[in-house]
Amino acid sequence: MNKPVRVRFAPSPTGPLHIGGLRTALYNFLFARKHKGSFVLRIEDTDSNRYVQGAEEYIVNALEWCGLIPDESPGKGGDFGPYRQSERKAQYAGFARELVEKGHAYYAFDTPEELEGARKRLQDNKGKHFQYNPFTRLQMKNSLTMSKEETIALIAAQTPFVVRLKVPENETVELHDLIRGNVSVKTEEIDDKILMKSDGMPTYHMANVVDDHLMQITHVIRGEEWLPSTPLHVMIYRYLGWEDTMPEFAHLPLLLKQEGKGKLSKRDGKHGYPVFPLEWDIPESEEKLIGFRESGYLPDAFINFLALLGWNPGTEQEIFSLEELSHAFSIDRIGKGGAKFDINKAKWFNQQYLKIKSTHELAGYLNASLSGEGIEFLTDKAVKVADVMRDRITFPEDIWQKGQFFFKQPTEYDEKVIRKKWTRENVNVLSDYADALIALETVSEEKAKGTLDVVLELNKVTIGKVMQALRVALTGEGEGPDIMRIISILGPNECTNRLRTAIEILDDHVKD
Ligand code: GLU
Repeated sequence: MNKPVRVRFAPSPTGPLHIGGLRTALYNFLFARKHKGSFVLRIEDTDSNRYVQGAEEYIVNALEWCGLIPDESPGKGGDFGPYRQSERKAQYAGFARELVEKGHAYYAFDTPEELEGARKRLQDNKGKHFQYNPFTRLQMKNSLTMSKEETIALIAAQTPFVVRLKVPENETVELHDLIRGNVSVKTEEIDDKILMKSDGMPTYHMANVVDDHLMQITHVIRGEEWLPSTPLHVMIYRYLGWEDTMPEFAHLPLLLKQEGKGKLSKRDGKHGYPVFPLEWDIPESEEKLIGFRESGYLPDAFINFLALLGWNPGTEQEIFSLEELSHAFSIDRIGKGGAKFDINKAKWFNQQYLKIKSTHELAGYLNASLSGEGIEFLTDKAVKVADVMRDRITFPEDIWQKGQFFFKQPTEYDEKVIRKKWTRENVNVLSDYADALIALETVSEEKAKGTLDVVLELNKVTIGKVMQALRVALTGEGEGPDIMRIISILGPNECTNRLRTAIEILDDHVKD
C-alpha cells in the first residue's frame, strides 16, 4: 500500500448510534491506526426528513467515550472539509451534470402520481414491483424519452426533476470485497437509482461516492447492509472516471440477536440490556433507551467486547487494550458469518477490567454512593472495602450495592440462615465472641480468627457450626467475602455492637 490509508465513519444523524454502528467506527479506527492512516468522521445528513436533533452530538459523544477520536471531523476540521454533507451541497450537482453529459444519467420529471400510476400498471400486469430500469424508463417522462428542447424547457420552467443513473443493459458489475471475496451482479438486478433529488440534494449513493473520492478514502469499511448498493457505487466511480482510485471495500458481518434469530435491532434494547453506547432520551416521549455507559460498563471493556464481535485475533488472547487492538487488528480475521451479541460476555469483560483497576480507583466509585447516604468517605476504609469486593463485582456500583454492610449495620437478617443456624449454642458463642472483641483495640484477620478459636474451644463448638450465624449477625447476609477480613475492616467495636444487636433483635428466633 503506497497511498496513505484514509478511512471514514459516515453515519447519518437519524437517531442514536446503535452498537453495530459503533463497531463499524471501531474497525475503521483500528484499521487507520494499524496502517498509520487517518480516521475521518463524515456526517451524512443529506436526508433532511430523517434528520434527528441531537443525533450528531450523540455520535460525537459516543466516539469520545470509547476513545475513538477522529483525525478529521466536523468539529475538528481537516484538509478535506467540510465534513457534513449538507455543507458540501454545491459540489454534487456538477458531478451529476457530468454523468448526464456523458450519457450515464438522465433527468426524470415524473410526478409522484405518475410514478404511482406506473407502479400500479406494471405491478398489475406482471405481479412484479415497478422499477425504473432500461425497459420501463422508455415509458416514463424523462430526458431519454423527450427531446433536448423539451427537457431544457421543463428545467427552465423550474419543473421539479431528479437525476437518475442510466444503468446499462446486460452487463455484469464485478467487485472485490476484502471480507466476502468477489461479488458480481447483473445490471438487470439494479434499478435506475436517483442520484439527485428534486430538492437539489444528492442521495446517499451520489454523495457517498463523490465524498469518498474527494476525501481520498482508500478503504470503505461498513455494514453488510450496504453491500447490495456497492455495484451501483462501482458504476458511478467508473462513469466519473475514478475507477483507478476507487477505494477497496470491506463489508462487515451483521450483529445477531442474543435470543432467537435475526439481526440485532434497536428494539432489542427493550430486553433490559443496552444495545446503545450512551443513554438516549426518545424525543417527545418519556422513554429512554439505556446505554452501556450509564449501565456501568467501562469504555475499555466495552471496546474490547465490541472488537471481538466479528473479529478474532487468531490466538487465545481475549483482553486487549485499544492500543493492543490497533496492532493486532486485520481485516482478514473478520468473519463472514454474523456475530451473536451476548450481554454476558460484555459483563465478563467488565469484570475483568474492574479486577485490574487500582484499589484507589475502585474506592473512588464508593464516593458518590456514600455521600448520597450521608456517610463520610474515609479513604482507608473505602480502599479496604474496594479490595475485598474487586472479585465480586460486575459494575462499579456493585461495590456499594453488594458491600453496603461495611457501612451500615444490617436491619434485616437472612431468614433461611436464621431458621437453621440461630441456635442457643451458636448465640452463646457469638455473645462470648462479642465480649472478647470489645477488649481489643484493633483486630487483624489473624487476631479475629485466633480470638474466635479460643471462644469456640471454651464452648466446645466447631467453627463449621457457627460460621453462618456469625456472618448473618455481622452482615445480615448468608454469603459474602471472607468473614475474618470483614471483621478486620469493621473493627472490634463495630463487630461487638452488631453481634449484640443481632442477639437482641433475634431473641425470639433462638432454637434450643
Ligand atoms: N450514511 C450511511 C449510514 O448511515 C453510510 C454507509 C457507508 O458507510 O457508506 O450507514
